[in-house]
Amino acid sequence: MLDIKIELTKTPKAKPADESKLGFGKIFTDHMFLMDYEAGKGWHDPRIVPYAPFELDPACVVFHYAQEIFEGMKAYRTADNTIQLFRPECNAARMQDSSDRLCIPKIPVEDYIQAVNELVKVEQDWVPHTDGASLYIRPFVFATDVGLGVHASKRYIFAIICAPSGAYYAEGINPVRIYVEDEYIRAAPGLTGFTKCGGNYAASIKAGELAEEQGYAQVLWLDGVEKKYVEEVGSMNIMFKIDGKIYTAATVGTVLPGVTRRSCIELLRNWGYEVIEGKLAIADIMQASREGKLEEVFGTGTAAVVSPVKELVWKDEHAFIGEGKIGPVTQKLYDTLTGIQWGKLPDPFGWTRVVK
Ligand SMILES: *Cc1c(COP(=O)(O)O)cnc(C)c1O
Repeated sequence: MLDIKIELTKTPKAKPADESKLGFGKIFTDHMFLMDYEAGKGWHDPRIVPYAPFELDPACVVFHYAQEIFEGMKAYRTADNTIQLFRPECNAARMQDSSDRLCIPKIPVEDYIQAVNELVKVEQDWVPHTDGASLYIRPFVFATDVGLGVHASKRYIFAIICAPSGAYYAEGINPVRIYVEDEYIRAAPGLTGFTKCGGNYAASIKAGELAEEQGYAQVLWLDGVEKKYVEEVGSMNIMFKIDGKIYTAATVGTVLPGVTRRSCIELLRNWGYEVIEGKLAIADIMQASREGKLEEVFGTGTAAVVSPVKELVWKDEHAFIGEGKIGPVTQKLYDTLTGIQWGKLPDPFGWTRVVK
């Protein structure tokens, strides 16, 4: 158990008056969680303090060599005004996997969950009341050693900030167009694709910008070796329903093991669908589309839950899916997951955890 000191702000901010205008990750709550690490001393001084800028030496390791990892999760307000988290132990365990790859000291799963729980408790009034809106939680760890040598830092800060965020689909679920990236890659075997590290995103921005300029919402990444097999989209995993079966890339090093992905797979199998985790060639997906067998395509991630895809473009070929509408399985996954998260449906798998 962490002994978390709490210092409350003397100047609380006004809560957003119009929750429909929140957007995503633009405003932050009154407090943040901090904990320091120093080699020889371990993680220490866990505290909740007023939200404020960091003062850091310009020679900090994180600024130059990007030794940094993060997580993304949400707190949901239910109809009876309890606040709950969704599978926080999965995020805690994943942050340990990211830590291991980036040579960052691990935070025990129970300490991570306790830190999130205590911060959300302090910020409970910031958890939105509007249907579909939630408190986005961003835990992150970064290296603070001062000096320009490339090495694992001996000092780190673990921080958690919270951003009340609006309903992702405020204007209804809108299927998106996806650009299959044929030049740039996001990950390769032996690299950091399975971790949530800032560097992965830095390397992906260019492809995302180019796709956006052409009117595509996201990039679909192919494997980094042959550029043949589908891996994931932007900040989501991706699934394909072809001839009744669901296909998704296996999480074997180059693909981020999404909590939403895992939950979708567990639900789909529970409903009797065959889910195949493995290599799926983009050429075969385009072929299935030509044969009329590409039934549904959707991304999965904490922010959107599921994001239906209406069009894929690969080289010069376009695949159009479901006449531009969300498919029935995608819709059922969306309804079931959001139902469990916002406490409108029973939670038969024990995925939610009440903040208390
Ligand atoms: C966070 C993330 C996902 C989705 O993970 P969830 O746990 O479902 O939110 C997928 N891909 C990438 C690259 C990510 O960073």
